[in-house]
Amino acid sequence: MQPRDLSDHTVYRAGRGIEEVARERGLDPDDLVKLSSNENVLGPSPKATETIREYANRVHVYPKSSHTDLAERLADDWDVRPEQVWLANGGDGVLDCLSRAMLEPGDRTLVPEPGFAYYAMSTRYHHGEVATYKLRKAEDFVQTSGGVLASYDGERIVYVTSPHNPSGSEMSLSEVETLAESTDEETLVLVDEAYKEFSDSPSAVSLVRERDDVAVLRTFSKAYGLAGMRLGYALVPDDWADAYAAINTPFDTGELTCRAGMAALDDDEHLDASVEMAREAREYLSTHLDAPTWESAGNFVLAEVGDGEAVADAAMDEGIIVRDCASFGLPECIRITCGTSEQMERAVAVLNEVIGR
Ligand SMILES: *Cc1c(COP(=O)(O)O)cnc(C)c1O
Repeated sequence: MQPRDLSDHTVYRAGRGIEEVARERGLDPDDLVKLSSNENVLGPSPKATETIREYANRVHVYPKSSHTDLAERLADDWDVRPEQVWLANGGDGVLDCLSRAMLEPGDRTLVPEPGFAYYAMSTRYHHGEVATYKLRKAEDFVQTSGGVLASYDGERIVYVTSPHNPSGSEMSLSEVETLAESTDEETLVLVDEAYKEFSDSPSAVSLVRERDDVAVLRTFSKAYGLAGMRLGYALVPDDWADAYAAINTPFDTGELTCRAGMAALDDDEHLDASVEMAREAREYLSTHLDAPTWESAGNFVLAEVGDGEAVADAAMDEGIIVRDCASFGLPECIRITCGTSEQMERAVAVLNEVIGR
């Protein structure tokens, strides 16, 4: 027998990992700096680590109260009902929840190009079809409602990534509002705010409170340093928030995951340090890298280096792992995750040497 026709499905290409690169190139893992997946190089919040240890002996029971507690906590923080908080297995899990809730077979979604690969993947997993709108390098990946609407044709979900991966550009709140205003009544505008903690501009959550056609995605994978726990959530409009109960898996998020998330929310010190580090690293990269970069509101910087794959490959031999952007359709670019000042100095020294060859 065979699975269903998966021929138009793509495989997610994650940034290269330390162990993988060390083994492949005969390097010492301790000498490698991974700047390829926008993880938090400061590690997890220490409060989260402590909580994971504390709750380790409770994992024989299903996570019920932890899920409720975290949803209530986030509802309180965002001033929405707990039902409007859709917890899931990472931001990726959130995208699946929204696909399940929204898409009938054959429905279409509109995704940015270049952009985050999982939007299209989730659509296809859920028997939908994908259309794209362009963010143009020549226009510094500017995000406007008009730019999206030029490609819009009644799609069921329109994805906006703000800050955008891999460019770091943002769509302003008023442009998101205009977009939601201009699309059909049955079109959801999903604002992916995976990197929003690093940005200074306001969240689109205010629109979730006011409208029935805007939802916001958030994750603990980036600023909170909990990528390995797999925790994200959507904030969805009050009107249809109850759909979650009809589409989620019985226990979508783990006990330790929820508890760690709650602890991380109480760790302002770790969050502030992470945001400050990203700010300094962006500044350092844009001033010292011998390559054009784009202004970024995330914890990463996109740089145009000529042959991105060759530069990333040569840098890897020197222990610096960055993301080549061929899979984003930007083969001339690399994306560098923000790190500590020592890491940024080393990365820039290596990259400048490689670019200068
Ligand atoms: C990292 C990321 C996510 C979510 O990642 P998870 O680890 O699944 O929470 C979502 N959107 C974008 C654009 C991302 O870069």
